[in-house]
Amino acid sequence: MRTIAIHGATGSIGLNAIDIIQRHPDRFKANVLTGGSNITKLVEIAQQTSAEHVAIADLAHYQDLKKFLPGVQIYAGTTGILEAACIDVDMCLAAITGSAGILPTYKALAHCDYLALVNKESIVAAGEQILAEAQSQNTKILPVDSEHNGLYQIFEESHRSALTHVTITASGGPFRSLPKDQFHTITKERALKHPNWAMGPKNTIDSATLMNKGLEYIEAALLFNLAPGQIKVVVHPQSIVHALSSYHDGTTLAHLGLPDMRSPISYALAWPERIKTPVAPLNLATIGSLTFEEPDYERFPCLRIAENVMKSSQAARIVMNAADEIAFQKFMANEIHFTDIPVIIQNQLDALSSSPINTIEDVIALDQSCRQKA
Ligand code: MG
Repeated sequence: MRTIAIHGATGSIGLNAIDIIQRHPDRFKANVLTGGSNITKLVEIAQQTSAEHVAIADLAHYQDLKKFLPGVQIYAGTTGILEAACIDVDMCLAAITGSAGILPTYKALAHCDYLALVNKESIVAAGEQILAEAQSQNTKILPVDSEHNGLYQIFEESHRSALTHVTITASGGPFRSLPKDQFHTITKERALKHPNWAMGPKNTIDSATLMNKGLEYIEAALLFNLAPGQIKVVVHPQSIVHALSSYHDGTTLAHLGLPDMRSPISYALAWPERIKTPVAPLNLATIGSLTFEEPDYERFPCLRIAENVMKSSQAARIVMNAADEIAFQKFMANEIHFTDIPVIIQNQLDALSSSPINTIEDVIALDQSCRQKA
């Protein structure tokens, strides 16, 4: 029996994980659940899973949560989320969205044997500190992001010296074929309609700007210890091939699967075993054709920004990540246009003066100062 803490339990990944966990009650026990502000959902899943510890980021819900979940240990606020991250479990699913996930993910590493990593922002901003902490705590990181999970499954560590490059795919998002002169007409509603994947709003908007792929490019470089030149991005609208690894003998290995997050989630939860999921088997004849194209950096400048940032510094990665989150919030509040998103990010990067990053506290401090300036 593997005990699991789900951080970000009320989000899209958290709920999919609970779906998998409930199909395998002999294997998994969700012991700790944390959420942002959706108290209704949090109470519902806490009752379904009989979790013993439940935390909510929004302090205003503390008393209600206590009332709805008698006998359950309740935590609230930023401190409560961190306390919940410090409860010992076998595995932690780090699925909080955005920078709010950095510190809980870091703290959890000392309290679990396996960290199933969803929160790509924590690696983008704090990859060095998180990987060092994982090593010193002897905690294994299992990537859940579909491309990185796919890459993890096909990556031959023993043939690292023969590796020429890896490729991660991008669906291209809802505006893959929209002409540039129409980008100013993009609304929040249209940007939130992803053609293939059902995801939370931050991930979906990032997919529409291709910043999601930019974050994943950096995530791949850090998680797999690759040079920026060793990672390629290709647009693949069907989202069936998730990752490829290419070797100097001319061989390329590919990871394929339907675009359903329950496959990578189950892989991480059950690692090193494979368990059954309700995901339909892949039928290539039904799909018919798989197509690939180069990303268009002209219409999607966020991808280029991220590639450049990876060659720069950790401070630049922190600023890019924070600026993207700020721009996302402004776009969701109808304060800016879709085309302003890369401009805001680039402006924040241009304003960055050199700042040395050593500790996790340095990461949080720079992230916070970006938000205050915005
Ligand atoms: Mg992904």
